[in-house]
Amino acid sequence: MFHRSGELQEIFIDNDAKLLEKPAARQDAFAVRRAHFPDEMRFFAPGLKHYSIPEFEQKNPHAFLPISLTGAGCALDCDHCNKKILEPMIPLDPKEGLFSMCRKMAAGGTESVLISGGSTRTGEVPFMKHIGEIKRIREELGLKIIMHTGLVTDENEAAALKAAGVDGVAIDIIGANETIRDVYHLGATTEDYERSLALLSSYGLSLRPHVILGLHYGRFLGEYHALDMIARYPVHALIVVILTPMHDTKMWGVEPPPPPEVDRFFRQARVKMPDTSIMLGCARPLGDYKKVVDKMAVEAGLNGIAFPAEGIVEHAASLGLKPIFIENACSCGC
Ligand code: SF4
Repeated sequence: MFHRSGELQEIFIDNDAKLLEKPAARQDAFAVRRAHFPDEMRFFAPGLKHYSIPEFEQKNPHAFLPISLTGAGCALDCDHCNKKILEPMIPLDPKEGLFSMCRKMAAGGTESVLISGGSTRTGEVPFMKHIGEIKRIREELGLKIIMHTGLVTDENEAAALKAAGVDGVAIDIIGANETIRDVYHLGATTEDYERSLALLSSYGLSLRPHVILGLHYGRFLGEYHALDMIARYPVHALIVVILTPMHDTKMWGVEPPPPPEVDRFFRQARVKMPDTSIMLGCARPLGDYKKVVDKMAVEAGLNGIAFPAEGIVEHAASLGLKPIFIENACSCGC
């Protein structure tokens, strides 16, 4: 586990973030939200996992389903994941094919899919050989598609995604070369992530970038740089998730980032991107940690939370936010 010195912490927080350390900072962030959005808070419950709280009973667990184009396979063994995020996804059956699988899902009530998968050695999800089927899924089945791309370095890929009519593109943005090297074991740089954003944006794709807080073994390192990069593009929504150490990964036993640092990022993001929807995604530690950061997310003026902890809907209502319940992923239903 890494421990942070006070000096190092200063390096990670830029000047704007320091300004937000005023006691009124949380109210400031909430005021920014109030000035730019209606008084509504969106709560998401995507499929695959049953979810029920007093205010929200999931009715269609198949409404949104994730598909892995590579099944359980991935050429990278990222220290925080070790391919584990692929496990709950529906593996592509190469014999049946993506289109046929999606046709069955649509017949079973599915309305949206995440098309994802493991990476190549160079950090890309190999979707191009399926692009024809992806287009047919959008056009003939009418399923909403969020495409998780990994790095996009080839203009043809961005053009193909646009021509396929995908509804949104999800991409993890990493803001520190050390994290790209040590956690992902990739030879890429932060410039490659920014180039991906630029390429996708230049084709008018609807971007839903993700930032993983604490990705560097629980430490904040490139998060604010990632935020700076994202803020330079007209993204549809920013999705914030939090490192959740998993069994059988090199990060098992690592402490997730301290909630006050998470709170500071929420507020900085809110102020930096005042009219962009910001969602707290489903990947975050459970239990008391979740209760604390969910409350912070509401108070910092974020727009939505996936699988909110108990009591959070009520808390949002107490701040004057009307709850909207959506049976979809936050990157899709936002
Ligand atoms: S590339 Fe993606 S699926 Fe593969 S190990 Fe890394 S985070 Fe997991």
